[in-house]
Amino acid sequence: MTIDLAFTEEEIALRETVARFAREEIAPVVAEMDEKEEFPRKTVARMKELGLFGVPIPEEYGGLGLGKVGYCLAAEELAKVDASHVAILGAHISLGTTPLLYFGTEEQKQRFLIPAARGERLMGFSLTEPGSGSDSGSLVTEAKPEGDFWILNGTKIYVTNGAEADQIVVMAANDVKRGPQGGITAFLVERGQKGFRVGRTEKKMGLHGTSTAELVFENCAVPKDQVIGEVGKGFVVAMTALDVGRVSLGAGSLGGMQGALQEALTYAQNRMQFDLPIVEHQAVQFKLANMAMHIHALRGMVYQAAAFQDRMGYDPRKWTRSDRMKKTRDSAIIKCLASEWASQAINDALQIHGGLGYIRGTPIERAYRDARISEIFEGTNEIQRIVVARDLIARGWVE
Ligand SMILES: Cc1cc2nc3c(=O)[nH]c(=O)nc-3n(C[C@H](O)[C@H](O)[C@H](O)COP(=O)(O)OP(=O)(O)OC[C@H]3O[C@@H](n4cnc5c(N)ncnc54)[C@H](O)[C@@H]3O)c2cc1C
Repeated sequence: MTIDLAFTEEEIALRETVARFAREEIAPVVAEMDEKEEFPRKTVARMKELGLFGVPIPEEYGGLGLGKVGYCLAAEELAKVDASHVAILGAHISLGTTPLLYFGTEEQKQRFLIPAARGERLMGFSLTEPGSGSDSGSLVTEAKPEGDFWILNGTKIYVTNGAEADQIVVMAANDVKRGPQGGITAFLVERGQKGFRVGRTEKKMGLHGTSTAELVFENCAVPKDQVIGEVGKGFVVAMTALDVGRVSLGAGSLGGMQGALQEALTYAQNRMQFDLPIVEHQAVQFKLANMAMHIHALRGMVYQAAAFQDRMGYDPRKWTRSDRMKKTRDSAIIKCLASEWASQAINDALQIHGGLGYIRGTPIERAYRDARISEIFEGTNEIQRIVVARDLIARGWVE
């Protein structure tokens, strides 16, 4: 039995729509986007028209209401063709909208979540700072209460969608000494807010379609009603968003691996060496077989975790402790394995292409550069292993 049997008609229709869009509209422009290192405005506008910026968000808040399963299907299909589009979507949905959907007030949902779900306002998420990456709880961007406002001062880095976003979830310290235990608060900051500006944008090895920017806060007054969740509970908000992000990252890796497998298979069936298509050589077959096996395993893991998160719903107050722990552990497992399997698969696919795989502008060369970041962002794989090990020590192995 394949997992497709569990998908609803709506999910299958969404998957077909995204597959067609990626094939017909993204594939033709992606090499140029990569070469010019440009944010893909036209295809992002089409993603908005297709409702992709709100796939998992309930219809009452402007989304398609297709849950994490639908979201992962969309991410997977986009990733078969291009990783930048998935990263743009992931920063918006997983990291940007999740805090609003799970922790926002009704007023915040009306004001900020609905336009985000409709794709009218692009979102980003800003946790990392120059001095705090993996140790994100040690962030020092300061938030001080003053009348009806919180005054933000500090510099954040590496924000995906940073230079493009209309609204960003920003983590700042209401009490540096307390750190993650009551000292971090999540804020919704809007583009154009006084005292907030985009600093340097990074040149990167891959993901050339994405904007990765520094954000600078200089006495930026954020209204108190733009605190997301409770003051001091921002670290929980951030980690909850990352649990969603790590599963959708898995879906992106799954799509990237399939794209690479298809490229490698087609190439191997057509490239002749020693009077044979190279696919006849067992060394090449084993690489293809390994890719297929990892794809098969990852598919089950991603959709099971997505369905589990859908079943948990989006009211954290109703979650049991064991469900929360399982969600966090499973998303760490998926993020880690998916990114490493994808790097390996894409590396093998490049090897099958021989010298051609190393030539700038081929899809496999781009995929190779794009894939590497998944072992680093949304928490490095070393951090994921720490999360899994801590859970094991606390609970043992629990299904
Ligand atoms: C393209 C890109 C997009 C990004 N997008 C965003 C975004 O949208 N929002 C955002 O907030 N951040 C974003 N990031 C930041 C990203 O999440 C961090 O880079 C990442 O978490 C690692 O932090 P760091 O770079 O400071 O590395 P460090 O934390 O300095 O780690 C360096 C090395 O030390 C290892 N290490 C650190 N601590 C331990 C430990 N306790 N045990 C074992 N090993 C350890 C790490 O695993 C890593 O290998 C992005 C980064 C990039 C490059």
